[in-house]
Amino acid sequence: MPDEMARPLIRGRGVGGGSGRLEASTSEPDAPVVGILGTGDFSRSLARRLAASGYQVVVGSRNPKRSAALFPEEAEVTSQVEAASQADLVFVAVFPEHHSTLVELKPTLAGKTLVDVSNGLSINRDGPSNAEQLAKLFPESSVVKGFNTISAWTLQVGPRDGNRQILLCGNNSTAKSSVMQLCRRMGFVPVDMGLLSSSLEVENLPLRLFPSWRVPVLCTLCLFAFFYVYNFLRDVLQPYIMAKKKFFYKMPIETVNATLPAVALVMLSLVYLPGLCGALLQLCWGTKYNRFPCWLDRWLTSRKQLGLCSFLCAALHAIYSLCLPLRKSAYFKLLIDSKQLKEGDVWVEAAVWRMELYLSVGIMALGLLSLLAVNSLPSVANTVNWREFSFIQSTLGYCALSMATLHTLLFGWDRAFDLARYHFFLPPTFALAVVLPLTALLGRLVLFVPCVARRLGLIRRGWEKSRHIRFDLPDEGCCNGLEDASYV
Ligand code: NAP
Repeated sequence: MPDEMARPLIRGRGVGGGSGRLEASTSEPDAPVVGILGTGDFSRSLARRLAASGYQVVVGSRNPKRSAALFPEEAEVTSQVEAASQADLVFVAVFPEHHSTLVELKPTLAGKTLVDVSNGLSINRDGPSNAEQLAKLFPESSVVKGFNTISAWTLQVGPRDGNRQILLCGNNSTAKSSVMQLCRRMGFVPVDMGLLSSSLEVENLPLRLFPSWRVPVLCTLCLFAFFYVYNFLRDVLQPYIMAKKKFFYKMPIETVNATLPAVALVMLSLVYLPGLCGALLQLCWGTKYNRFPCWLDRWLTSRKQLGLCSFLCAALHAIYSLCLPLRKSAYFKLLIDSKQLKEGDVWVEAAVWRMELYLSVGIMALGLLSLLAVNSLPSVANTVNWREFSFIQSTLGYCALSMATLHTLLFGWDRAFDLARYHFFLPPTFALAVVLPLTALLGRLVLFVPCVARRLGLIRRGWEKSRHIRFDLPDEGCCNGLEDASYV
């Protein structure tokens, strides 16, 4: 834990010379009483927030005298039994391995609501959850799981500066709604996650480390490593071995900049290929009711992350490209080239056109990719309906893929047919990078062929080859076009 987090979150009564009184406190003698067991970081932040929200707070400690100085004046710090007997709603802010030490409070806590805020040390896949174990220890109390997804820090600074949502679950609906009410009064937004059986999921949430990003990020890194080594072999090592030319200076910028667009393009094609695979399988099976293989299911659900990784690489490529002329090597090369120029060499019409088109199409592709990235934000995606969302992600997505492929082909121009470009007999990088995007675009075109599109349309509306159910689509206009065929 960083030093900052290890420090006490709330200064005590005597600490720092402050009075320890809460500026925003509105707690009154007849305000509802809330109990907290435990006097650690979480308990102190919670006590402060509860007192500021107008609750009377009573904290139960094994050693009240030692802990009292750490709490604001509004909170009463007493023994565990005393705290448990005074409140109808009690937060259990002790680590789950110490829950069993609280069993002597069982009679006192009977009929009351216990809020389990605990987290585990590692992801618990098999259960039971901490909350379920607590419910077993206190069968006469109603256990509600919650507050574990926010930190003591968020609680201390308040909902304006942290995650506002608090996920709650529990079997007793009255107990759950009283905790929800308390959340609202504290300024948080309660989210009902259902019964206590969901507590395992709620407990695992803060322990997850980007679960949906692992494969896409790994894929990006592997592709980056592959294309980087490939470019290094072709553009740096080959000239050194064959002609003793030292191009090692290219490694930090030029080689990276030649690698990024290849990764971006392949990643973007990986966004659209699983939809095509799904469509192909449905056409072969003649039904949409067969389950896709697991790998395809997982691939389909990773499309957003794959697309965002592609966007990141494309954006980095744009920035690297803008920086190319700033390099000293570019300046020296310009000087050397300018001395070798003859008058007729200054303007090469084909090269001018190639570069104009190449840049224009590249900018368009990046613009469209940015639009797709923005549209994948949940807050933006929630403002458009399904048809609009799929139009942007599918139709505009294929436009972005076409533009990016064209950008790469324009970069290649006629170099793929120039044998001198095949260093170490390796084809130019762009020739490798366009294979998957061209496959995706061709596959998409095949799905446009009327007989294929019609059959796929029927299958997606429930037609099955094996059952020989014959029916027609209501009318041709009902086929939503591009977006329908690619979204599986
Ligand atoms: P902490 O600072 O270590 O405090 C735990 C408290 O538990 C102690 O101060 C102690 O208070 C009490 N306790 C009761 N019986 C105990 C026993 N047998 N052995 C040791 N301590 C005992 O921990 P914390 O950070 O406040 O976390 C408390 C709970 O909140 C944990 O379950 C944690 O997973 C959860 N949580 C914490 C955070 C966070 O940001 N810190 C966020 C979400 C959830 P007394 O000595 O006064 O009895």
